[in-house]
Amino acid sequence: MIGGGVNGVWVARDAAGRGLSVLLCEQDDLASATSSASSKLIHGGLRYLEQRQFRLVRESLREREVLRENAHHLIHPMQFVLPVGADSRPAWMLKLGLWIYDRLGGTSSMPRSAAVDLGSAEFDGILQNEFVEGFSYYDCWVDDARYVVLNAVDAARRGAKIRTRTKCTAARRESNRWRVTLRGMDGKDEEVRCRALVNAAGPWVSSVLENVVGQNTANAIRLVRGSHIVVPQLYDAAHAHILQSPDGRVVFTIPFEDRFTMVGTTDVTMDVAFTADWRPPSIDADETAYLCDVVNGYFRKQTSAADVVWSFSGVRPLYDDGAGSPSRITRDYVIESDAPKGEAPLISLFGGKVTTARKLAEAVMSKLRGRFLNMRDPWTKEALLPGGEMDDFPYFADELVGDYPAFDEVWLRAIARRHGTRSRAIIDTARKQTDLGWNFGGGLYAAEVDWMMAEEWAMEPDDILWRRTKCGLAVDAQGRASLADYMSRSRSG
Ligand SMILES: Cc1cc2nc3c(=O)[nH]c(=O)nc-3n(C[C@H](O)[C@H](O)[C@H](O)COP(=O)(O)OP(=O)(O)OC[C@H]3O[C@@H](n4cnc5c(N)ncnc54)[C@H](O)[C@@H]3O)c2cc1C
Repeated sequence: MIGGGVNGVWVARDAAGRGLSVLLCEQDDLASATSSASSKLIHGGLRYLEQRQFRLVRESLREREVLRENAHHLIHPMQFVLPVGADSRPAWMLKLGLWIYDRLGGTSSMPRSAAVDLGSAEFDGILQNEFVEGFSYYDCWVDDARYVVLNAVDAARRGAKIRTRTKCTAARRESNRWRVTLRGMDGKDEEVRCRALVNAAGPWVSSVLENVVGQNTANAIRLVRGSHIVVPQLYDAAHAHILQSPDGRVVFTIPFEDRFTMVGTTDVTMDVAFTADWRPPSIDADETAYLCDVVNGYFRKQTSAADVVWSFSGVRPLYDDGAGSPSRITRDYVIESDAPKGEAPLISLFGGKVTTARKLAEAVMSKLRGRFLNMRDPWTKEALLPGGEMDDFPYFADELVGDYPAFDEVWLRAIARRHGTRSRAIIDTARKQTDLGWNFGGGLYAAEVDWMMAEEWAMEPDDILWRRTKCGLAVDAQGRASLADYMSRSRSG
């Protein structure tokens, strides 16, 4: 398995649970690329209805139900407000779209859509006065990076080997086996043999085909960058917005880490010449200005580039279906199977969503079934993610707060969201907050750092500050330096 994004870890987890022997290599950290840079929604994708992508929306809405049941700590229902304004699609069209959205996935645990009065007490004071009419619907929010890490944790529990900071540099067929070269952090090469190779390299998918496997890629890939900005809270409420911009695209504003609002996304087609150290580029000034302009067209509180406290960009490797604008290319996944008779198969993954990665993994397993006759049946639909052993997250979080009265409530709730039922193992024998060891800032204590290094493959400060937590929003330069020093001593000790 090449790639430790959401698709790679899901395939690894599914395969390991079916009794296959799995090795996953990730050149950087888990979720270091697109899978920590998504809009963090487990959603059907309301806007894909406009493009008549009913299969994708139906599957995604069904998955929303399945995934939520299995990860109550990471996946939370969220209300979205869709204001109707002069530049928006007509109200009748939005109403029709939401009616379909409510029904397309079958039975749903989420409240149905409804018309809302934006002047009512619930929404008053947030948007500009001209926005009086709107709709409300529900989708789910996910901590995307933690979702990836916890899938990897479960894959490892089921026997998969997870190697981070390990790059696949070459892969050659030797009849019914692949001979694969892996390069670790120490620069040393190691050769492994496997019966099937899955290329889940995300934006690098075609680069892996060309430069690692040595194939010419016949299929057309469009690399589309999407960026988000994080600004101080634009409004003090738990709901998100889906804003229609004058160019017809949509932009989300989502409450983020208690004190912030996340705004995104852009859609920029990129021409990439892959080099050995290529990494997705960060947001540019035009994208920031675009997102601020959309926000400023709706909200009372105005924002500008100077307010941005953090930004992140991800690149989608989309299967070019000939659609003109980047927003219109299908977000559905495409699984390409190269499996000549008598030779080891190669499966390459294009596009997809965080929401559909479990289904994608099932589809990959179906393609490999004929080659692994001892493969067990599908099992992931009802499999809890580590830490997800609960029926109701708010109840679980209240219980945790009640059980540890000597600890800071805000910290306990954050830990509950990150680790679910595994929170108790992190608190372990600590009796009070200071027993958790050094405080690096932002609620990040040594006990959690130790846990993430021991259980979640964290190796560098950014693995913890920006992926396994978002404490990077609060940790200052001194805290960061202490963390780097602490992690380096832990690694060598
Ligand atoms: C802006 C944006 C917003 C999105 N919002 C949503 C959303 O709200 N909901 C949703 O469901 N989906 C969303 N998506 C889609 C979703 O994020 C992607 O489909 C998903 O993250 C892709 O995962 P992946 O595993 O294919 O790729 P990645 O996460 O990019 O993982 C590929 C990994 O492969 C590794 N790799 C590459 N080459 C090698 C090599 N030679 N050896 C070892 N490792 C290698 C990379 O380091 C990388 O970590 C969004 C996407 C974008 C860009």
